[in-house]
Amino acid sequence: MTLLDMRDAGAGRHPSRPALVFRDARPSDSMLEARARAVGQLLLRCRQRVAGCGRLGRSRTLGCQLSVVSFSFFIACVLLASPATAQDEAALARARQQMVEQHLRARDITDARVLWAMGKVPRHRFIHPALAPEAYADRALPIDEGQTISQPYIVALMTQLLELRGPERVLEVGTGSGYQAAVLAELVKEVFTIEILPGLARSAAARLAPLGYWNVEVRAGDGYQGWPEKAPFDGIIVTAGASHIPQPLIEQLKEGGRLVIPVDVPVGYQELIQGRKERGKLITRRVAPVRFVPLIEPKR
Ligand code: SAH
Repeated sequence: MTLLDMRDAGAGRHPSRPALVFRDARPSDSMLEARARAVGQLLLRCRQRVAGCGRLGRSRTLGCQLSVVSFSFFIACVLLASPATAQDEAALARARQQMVEQHLRARDITDARVLWAMGKVPRHRFIHPALAPEAYADRALPIDEGQTISQPYIVALMTQLLELRGPERVLEVGTGSGYQAAVLAELVKEVFTIEILPGLARSAAARLAPLGYWNVEVRAGDGYQGWPEKAPFDGIIVTAGASHIPQPLIEQLKEGGRLVIPVDVPVGYQELIQGRKERGKLITRRVAPVRFVPLIEPKR
């Protein structure tokens, strides 16, 4: 999960703030306004009811006030937390297309299948609902357990670097929210994804199934070791910053397969590396400076 695309940082501008997209990425404004109005009216009625309680005896008045206030609070919470409507979904889909045009196609994402997948996967379903208005800004966002979901441009770039055609089996290390796995699942036959934090692995699996991503298998475990039982893979993608390229991943890559991984460099960020396995060896090239959360290396 990238915190920042360093190429943008180098250009001295924030990568993710085209005002237009941000505004359009707030499609649920009308919904939120309507809900806020409903909550406002509810609280007003609550005040009137509480005032009405004054006609009762003192202890009954207090009980009445408490029950009216807690009931209203409950209803307010339900109204504010209720799922997005079809109208919201349509607006989010428009914001998603705009994200594809402005942040991916306008830059160096040229693989038509990757652009298509990025336009299809509902990123807002992989983050907390309160962050949905920001789902299609080109920026990393927080997920549970102090981790982040990568910015869309980096997800698209790394996916493009795998050079996928359709029949592949791909391994992802660092499931996080499951978003990158969903993008891959749109493009290949099977996706295997490993997450070291069991809570995240569980919630990603629970998120992917209802969205129809049945070709994704999630496992809780240490991705440094790869997934030998499912190897070999046509492609391997690591979505956390590694201190080096783990040997088990090279071994589990098919001949001709691609490995995409951010690897630490001494100055505090990582270099995004694309590797290709040729005659048992990984031939690498540097693609871009990036910044990811670290790949956790359990003590052995
Ligand atoms: N690809 C994710 C974002 C990844 S964030 C998405 O689309 O949302 C990086 C993830 O790597 C975090 O969830 C972190 O817990 C996980 N991680 C870190 N070290 C790991 C390891 N050794 N094995 C597997 N997962 C690891």
